[in-house]
Amino acid sequence: MGFSQGQVLKGLGVGLVAVSAPVIRILPSQELPAWHRTESSFDVEQAALRSAISSVESDLARLSEGADETSSDIFSALSILLTDEELLEMAEGFLSDGWSAAAAFGMAVNEFAEILGGDPDFDERVKDLQDLSRRVQAHIAGIKVGLDLPLEGRYVLVADDFSPADTAAFTKAVAGVITTSGGPTSHTAIICRARSIAAVVSCPEAADLADGDLVLVDPVGDRVVYGSDVSLATKAISFIDTGAEPLISVRANIGSVEDARKADQTKADGVGLFRTELLYLSTNEQPSRAVQTAKYTEVLSAAPAGPIVVRTIDAGSDKPVPFLDMPHEENPALGVRGFRLVRDHRDFIVDQLASLAEAKRATGRDVWVMAPMVATAEEASEFASLAKAAGDFKVGIMVEVPAIVQQISELAGVVDFISVGTNDLSQYLFGADRQNSALGGLLNHWQPALIRTLAKIANDASAAAISTGVCGESASDPAFAIVLAGLGFTSVSASPTQVDAVRSALAAVSLSQAKSLAGQALAAKSPSAAKSAIVDGLARL
Ligand code: PEP
Ligand code: MG
Repeated sequence: MGFSQGQVLKGLGVGLVAVSAPVIRILPSQELPAWHRTESSFDVEQAALRSAISSVESDLARLSEGADETSSDIFSALSILLTDEELLEMAEGFLSDGWSAAAAFGMAVNEFAEILGGDPDFDERVKDLQDLSRRVQAHIAGIKVGLDLPLEGRYVLVADDFSPADTAAFTKAVAGVITTSGGPTSHTAIICRARSIAAVVSCPEAADLADGDLVLVDPVGDRVVYGSDVSLATKAISFIDTGAEPLISVRANIGSVEDARKADQTKADGVGLFRTELLYLSTNEQPSRAVQTAKYTEVLSAAPAGPIVVRTIDAGSDKPVPFLDMPHEENPALGVRGFRLVRDHRDFIVDQLASLAEAKRATGRDVWVMAPMVATAEEASEFASLAKAAGDFKVGIMVEVPAIVQQISELAGVVDFISVGTNDLSQYLFGADRQNSALGGLLNHWQPALIRTLAKIANDASAAAISTGVCGESASDPAFAIVLAGLGFTSVSASPTQVDAVRSALAAVSLSQAKSLAGQALAAKSPSAAKSAIVDGLARL
């Protein structure tokens, strides 16, 4: 199919600056041979598997050299996954059943992946594992994998989506990226935002672009324009760090001690979301209070100065935690998850709060605690009682379930703060599974219904003298963070790679400017109108 000059392909923009450059089409890599049983001995297949694993390990080490810090971290994490003893044992089990080395590794990874399930975080781990599986199988079959990108020039890469190993191999010549699938929280979107690469994701029509086609990647306009140069771009915005203080506190989201250290390299004012369940992804036994205290103490000690908001375990649905025995549910996103675990696993929540109190004493840090997925004021009260009985914490809840939005005023005197999880709030508000990239448009944080819901939350919380933050992925978008400040939120929490960019944006406007921009976003009738209103407004300042 040919495109005409100026033809617009719609997608979801990531970033605030447009680029125009020729396309390099990245085709899906060569098909791997079908899995089969083999006549060769266990020893021969085991040797083939081990040699392929160590070759992939060396490939990762090579890619890691000279990669930026974020990518280098990804490669280290991939190496750890690749050489996991349990995974190898599982694969050897399949070898003993007569499967070939490639089949055995592929099956072992599938089994592992099934245990993990996915939310953006887990989902990424599953994708990482599957990418490693393909690499190992390709090595065994003698098939070349990995991107071979130019080092010089400026290009726009077009693909279905990119694996972590692919994005880490992006060279300086990658000026723009277009993916046909993937949503606003996909790995590609997160990396492009962190590296300031203009991107449009979830753009199915781009599948027909060919090598050499000139395209304008216009993230602010949520579009790609065929044959166009940057003069046609929707206005672009960049924020410069002037050293000024941001309008509201900018905290960091973390899930591990490594994240805490990364956040400490930024100007984050403490931590706005510590996702504790990420510590327990592959833990088969319930950790004792002593083990938990040691872990939390380590994370609290490494975290940037400022308050540390710790979320009690958010297990269930997209966040499977192996040691919690949770019943199978037909629709787990609407099931017993988050704070609802208090019904069958009260002991774990109590232990967690006690361990946090101990870690708080040991480190002297200002620890706040909050519960996930709270739906009623009654649940909020129950959590507040548990937390206050355990220690001297500031107590809060996450606002992720639309029902609690209608009860914010009843939280006065019950909680000290609320933190809005826009990832789940969007999922439940729009009835759109957050893991379904085909629904990326509904999960777009510029949706007017989400912005109006956020305005109500900020107003009602302020009237109830409850401090309000946003810790969902939307707060990692610098332009959106300005809207949040204008709506009345008193803090945002972003992924560590975005903290400094969000800070610079929030230092570039006055409170009255932010309020006027938020008013324009509130009046907009579509996501693109809301985003353009802010970008145009910022350009006029
Ligand atoms: C959210 O739902 O926005 C959130 C921050 O929590 P998580 O992404 O861990 O579900
Ligand atoms: Mg959530």
